[in-house]
Formats: sequence, C-alpha cells, structure tokens
Amino acid sequence: MAVFKPENVEDFYEIGEVLGSGHFGQVRQVRERATGTCWAGKFLKIRKNTCSRLGLDRSCVEKEVEILQAVQHPNIVTLKDVFESRAEVVLVLELVSGGELFDFIAAKENLLESEAIEFMKQILEGLSFMHSKNIGHFDLKPENIMLSDKVAAQPNIKLIDFGLAHHFYQGEEYKSTSGTPQYIAPEVINSEPLSTAADMWSIAVITYILLSGLSPFQGETDEETLRNISVMNYTFPPQYFNMTTSMAKDFIQKLLLKNPSERMTAEECLLHPWIKPMTRKQVAHRNRSSINMKNFKKFNARRKWKMSYNMVWMCNRLVQLKLLPKGNTDPDPLQRQCESDVEDNESKPASLLRRRLSSSS
Ligand code: ATP
Repeated sequence: MAVFKPENVEDFYEIGEVLGSGHFGQVRQVRERATGTCWAGKFLKIRKNTCSRLGLDRSCVEKEVEILQAVQHPNIVTLKDVFESRAEVVLVLELVSGGELFDFIAAKENLLESEAIEFMKQILEGLSFMHSKNIGHFDLKPENIMLSDKVAAQPNIKLIDFGLAHHFYQGEEYKSTSGTPQYIAPEVINSEPLSTAADMWSIAVITYILLSGLSPFQGETDEETLRNISVMNYTFPPQYFNMTTSMAKDFIQKLLLKNPSERMTAEECLLHPWIKPMTRKQVAHRNRSSINMKNFKKFNARRKWKMSYNMVWMCNRLVQLKLLPKGNTDPDPLQRQCESDVEDNESKPASLLRRRLSSSS
C-alpha cells in the first residue's frame, strides 16, 4: 500500500502551469525543489463526507494509486509520490511532455500504416502487461494515449489516467457503467460483468479512427451512439477505407465482437499479421498503405473543438454559480478549482457525463 504523505506538497515541489483538467481536478507541472526535475502533479479533490456529491471518494484514489504502482512498464505513466491534505490528494507522476498521440499524428502530412502500427504495438504492449496483471484500464481513448517526447526519432507511447482502472481478483465479478460513449464496449452499456476484453473493444475503435478519421459508432447523440454499439452497427465505408489494407480491417473485425471472450487479447493482437507480418507480401502491403490523413485531421480538429467547448461550458457554469468572476472563461485562474466543486443538477455535455460509479460483487 502506497504511503500518502501528510506533508504539504508545496514544501517539496514548486507548482507550475496547468497541463490538463479532469473531472476531479487539475494536472499541473511541478518542479521538485531538491533536484529541479519536473513532474506532473495530479490534484484530486476528495469528498469531505459521504453525503457530498463533490469530489472523489478516498477509496477511489487509493485504487488508482494501487493500480499505478502495479503497472510499471515503459508504455505506462509512472507514479513517484502521493501527498494528502484534508481536501486533496496529489499524485506526483512522470511528466509526459509529448502531448497526445492523435495531435502528433494530425500534425503530419502523411502516415503509412506501418508507422501507425508502431504506435499501436506500443499501446498493445502496455495493455498486454497491464492485462497480465489482471488490470483493466476501462477508459482507453485518444486523450489517454500520450507521447513521452514528440521530438524523439521514435516517440514513446505512455498510457495515462487510471481513474477508472480495475484490478480483478480471483472469483470477483465487476460491473461498471463508466466510460466515454464512443469507445465503450457493449457489455459496459448493458451493465454486464466486465473483463479486460472491454479494453480490446476500445482498441478496435481507436484503430478504426486512426485509419479512417471516422468513428465507427458515432451517432448524432450519445443515445444514438450507444444504440449503434449495442446493435453492432458498423461498416467500413469504401470512401474512407480505400487506402486501408485488408489485414487492418481483419484486425478490427476480430476485436469488434459482441462476445468479449471471442475478441483477440492484447497478447494475440501482438501476433496478428497486421502487427507482426509473417510474409514479405504482408510487409509490403503495410508499407504501401497510408492512413486517411485528410479525414483524420478533420476528426482530430472536431475532437479538440469539443474538448474546448466542454472547458468553456464548465467555466460558464462556474460563473453562473458565482465561483468564477464574470467574463472569465480562462480555466487557469481557477487554481485547483474543478467541476467537482460544484453541486450541479443541470445536464452536462456528453463528455462530462462520465461517472465513477461502479459495483463490485
Ligand atoms: P478525466 O476525468 O478526464 O478522466 P482525470 O481527472 O482522471 O481526467 P487525467 O486524465 O489523468 O485526469 O489528466 C487530465 C489531463 O491532464 C490529461 O488529459 C492530460 O492532458 C494531462 N495529464 C495527465 N497526466 C499527465 C502527465 N503525467 N504528464 C502530462 N500531462 C498529463
């Protein structure tokens, strides 16, 4: 069990710029006073009492910490330290400074399938390690796939955000209704017992988007998206997949299966010919095919726009609730204010609907 240090984090780290925001707090760059090394501090608000809807249960943070300690792998973010005060827990994490994989790809002119595969391979290696420890991530999506350093010749993937992850113990049945609509597996929607196979569904959705710039189940509304997933309503429209190899489509098809036990495991994915070609012909196909960059750029621009929209929406709610001065839609002066500080009954945009509600029996 990790030690939650009772000292003030600011005695050891200088708090710097905001790197990102989540549902329960902010992630900021922090500089270790003793060494000058930079890290990422994830500041999580803790629920003050059981009646409050604000913040996270301490037990959820303990779970995230326990899992981060168990998954030490080159493709998974590392946890260095944990500090705790009355209202907040701070996770000091390895600083992942290369940004999101999807942004890195969208900045390119072109990307061969073989180059995309190198990234998929690293994601699968991290995942395969995690799954071998009986840990599921349950929130795989582009925002949680980052690069350690984008200027490196061969950028290294880092999986982040273990806030919804779960460690399976023998004989345990685990259910969760949390996740992000576009990427969740049918068994999540149907409140069925989960396994690490739910992550493999998300891998298929991410691969599909990466190759085509199209999201396989995306509807006009969340409800429509969830319905599309439940009835497995997806195809490979030729106008988006005209540059895609049949091996890539086969890879996706072997993951987008309703029955979780029929999906390839991460380990099996690493042996699929799309990832590990067996013949010269297969190698040549991967080197000749490109991702649909034009449409991928469009997808990524829309995704970023939605993320900014959600952030502005959140700030406007804080203004309405008089927690932020009028006219201020810059999230930075919020300091470590976050959505979870607000008792809010109004409906929220889809991506803010994620709940950390789960049951274990
Ligand atoms: P959510 O509620 O959206 O799942 P969260 O509260 O669990 O978020 P994270 O997803 O872990 O928080 O982090 C929020 C954002 O902060 C990330 O999308 C990313 O941009 C940034 N971030 C998180 N961890 C790191 C890190 N180790 N290094 C650099 N940036 C990070």
